[in-house]
Amino acid sequence: MIGAAAIRKALEARKDEIIDQIAHVVNIDSPTFPSKGTNAVSSHFAEKYRTMGADVEMIPGTHETGDHLLATFHGKRETGPHILLIGHCDTVFPEGIAAQRPFTMKDGIAYGPGVADMKGCLVTCQFMMEALLTEGFEEFGKIGILYDTDEERGNPSSRNVIERIGKDAAAALIIESGRANGSTVSSRKGSCFGRLLVSGVSAHAGVDPEKGRSAVHELAHQMVAIQKLEREGGTVNITGLSGGHRPHIVADEASCHVEVRAERQAIFDSMTDELRRITSSPHIEGTRSEFQILGGRPVMEFNAETEKLVSIAAEIAEDAGVEFMHAPSGGGSDGNYLSPLGVAVLDGLGPVGGNLHTDEEYLELESIAPRGALLGGLIERLSTK
Ligand SMILES: [Zn+2]
Repeated sequence: MIGAAAIRKALEARKDEIIDQIAHVVNIDSPTFPSKGTNAVSSHFAEKYRTMGADVEMIPGTHETGDHLLATFHGKRETGPHILLIGHCDTVFPEGIAAQRPFTMKDGIAYGPGVADMKGCLVTCQFMMEALLTEGFEEFGKIGILYDTDEERGNPSSRNVIERIGKDAAAALIIESGRANGSTVSSRKGSCFGRLLVSGVSAHAGVDPEKGRSAVHELAHQMVAIQKLEREGGTVNITGLSGGHRPHIVADEASCHVEVRAERQAIFDSMTDELRRITSSPHIEGTRSEFQILGGRPVMEFNAETEKLVSIAAEIAEDAGVEFMHAPSGGGSDGNYLSPLGVAVLDGLGPVGGNLHTDEEYLELESIAPRGALLGGLIERLSTK
């Protein structure tokens, strides 16, 4: 065994190189669209992993996304477990942002677009893997490292890729940054969002209102019923409301956006079933409604498999010299897709960061070595199973 303490030391020795490389990739703009930037980031890491001896595959993006990078390392244990690490190359920031607000550092904290979500994490993972190999790690089965290019837009292209590659994995380790307090993420809510469109019949509101069928009135009924779907472990958010055109005409159209989130798959399924029932049985005769699903992710549940991973990670954290915590998150990630397939998933294993998706996004540079050590130690331990 190499052990987390040795991996930490190896990472500490390369701190400056790690920071230089984080600066380099943070300064490449990589919004999800257009795909030029994510392709530049995924190619950058493809080269790094190729040099380290990985089989590198660029999986073509669909839906106009960039290509997804899959780097696979094969160890000596041919029938050994498959461990999958997942991260993403895209950020929420537009093209041109890096020129305005490039990578900077102050008092051990790094700033810049996507520094914690998640370019600092991608670089940490690369150096962690290199440290493992340099220290002679070879008693493993297969380690896959998947860097997709569309997580920030709900994985329109990579969802299938994640499911296909991850379904037989013994564990999926998601390398998103740790929470601001250092916690990892052991469960994530599932979500479903879409647009509810109601059509009615227009009529003059003064002359012959009886001929009208108000889409706004119908939508109001549906929104109240939908909001009532909220329960313990499940929330509803209605936004983007609009309806009708002019004050004296009965509205023939109305719409809103609906988002449902839940902690457990059973709650999620029951809420979305009821949502479908509400939106398909109009209250006012003569109106019609349609719920167009625009996206969402299944629930990443805290299940028995996660519990096992969490207890192994807690042991390794001691060796890595880092406090181990885990907590639920309301937001989704690449990890949500594998949990329903029965794969053990633990998220938030990257270095510690915060203020994600804002101009104040930051990464704690001191956390890189210990968190990288936790990740590396976890891979080593899981590979011996
Ligand atoms: Zn992210």
